[in-house]
Amino acid sequence: IQCEIAAKAGMIIQRVVLNSRPGKNGVPVAENFRLEQSTIADTIQAGQVRVRTLYLSVDPYMRCRMNEDTGSDYLLPWQLSEVADGGGIGVVEESKHHNLAKGDFVTSFNWPWQTLAILDGSLLQKLVPQLVNGRLSYFLGAAGITGLTALLGIKEKGHVTAGANQTMVVSGAAGACGSLAGQIGRLEGCSRVVGIAGTDEKCSLLVQEMGFDAAINYKKGNVAQQLCELCPGGVDVYFDNVGGDISDTVISQMNQNSHIILCGQISQYNKDVPYPPPLPPDIEKIQKERNITRERFLVLNYMDKQEASILQLCQWIQEGKLKVRETVVEGLANIGAAFQSMMNGGNIGKQIVSVSK
Ligand code: NAP
Repeated sequence: IQCEIAAKAGMIIQRVVLNSRPGKNGVPVAENFRLEQSTIADTIQAGQVRVRTLYLSVDPYMRCRMNEDTGSDYLLPWQLSEVADGGGIGVVEESKHHNLAKGDFVTSFNWPWQTLAILDGSLLQKLVPQLVNGRLSYFLGAAGITGLTALLGIKEKGHVTAGANQTMVVSGAAGACGSLAGQIGRLEGCSRVVGIAGTDEKCSLLVQEMGFDAAINYKKGNVAQQLCELCPGGVDVYFDNVGGDISDTVISQMNQNSHIILCGQISQYNKDVPYPPPLPPDIEKIQKERNITRERFLVLNYMDKQEASILQLCQWIQEGKLKVRETVVEGLANIGAAFQSMMNGGNIGKQIVSVSK
């Protein structure tokens, strides 16, 4: 009877809301999110579409959105007991938007974490599955914001020059951005690429599948010594996803006039520190004396280059030059666990939640 009453009031959906905040210095857990049943209207208005969610993206920046204040002007905090959102892909089930039809695949950066949604069609981008050999979820990763971050980070801040015999080091190397950044560094002309990641499995994947020359498990052995052996000519370009001790160690081995691509600082995201976090005084001294650039990079500032860059990424994927890895978790109910796992190193490549099953 309850279902019948709800059905009359609209269509029943499942959605995930923010259940509690971890606190600025706390470690996020799956229980910070809650699955619940809700309803959406059973009719749509002019300009709107009803979409069925297929894939949702889980990303480190979401940690900031769990705080009452995100600390940045371009990110809004999630509100308690309100639906969370992020990158998503779905299929149009009904359309009253002139440019979208039933069956179209669409994406948005602000996709609500729910099974069905009514969205403003003008805020959605239409996807062409053939560009990624039918692997739709790639539009959230290698052919989406993650790929753009790796490619544009390197192009805008890396100063990579083909033939210049440059060595690139990538931290967070087996993650979504890092695994692409190392490969793109090579494609753009670096002669040596070394990754840093958190397990032996990740390190062997980087070398055997992704074409890195070597990889260091930062949880084992002496990172500084291994880095010194693996980068005998020093480090020219550092793609930094993690910050903290790992980055201090890498910066200590960077060459004169070298470049840091300040992509992210995940090791600091559960701490109440400003972004980007300041370097310790001894490391800052090295950075200044060696004239190492460390400019803030934010992919959203380069959206005028989005279209051409996505086409470049899709071409590399089709040609097999860019190897893509994803960790796919099934079911909207598991999205909080997927986020917790990714923040603790449980993912290889892009962390995706599949909502269709
Ligand atoms: P990701 O690397 O796929 O996932 C996070 C990974 O970070 C984990 O798998 C884990 O792997 C590693 N990690 C977690 N805690 C760590 C710690 N304390 N020390 C070292 N490594 C740790 O995530 P992503 O989406 O590719 O994002 C990577 C970075 O890029 C993030 O900092 C993110 O904020 C940033 N980002 C920036 C932009 C931009 O515009 N600047 C855009 C997108 C993403 P291990 O097993 O190796 O520890």
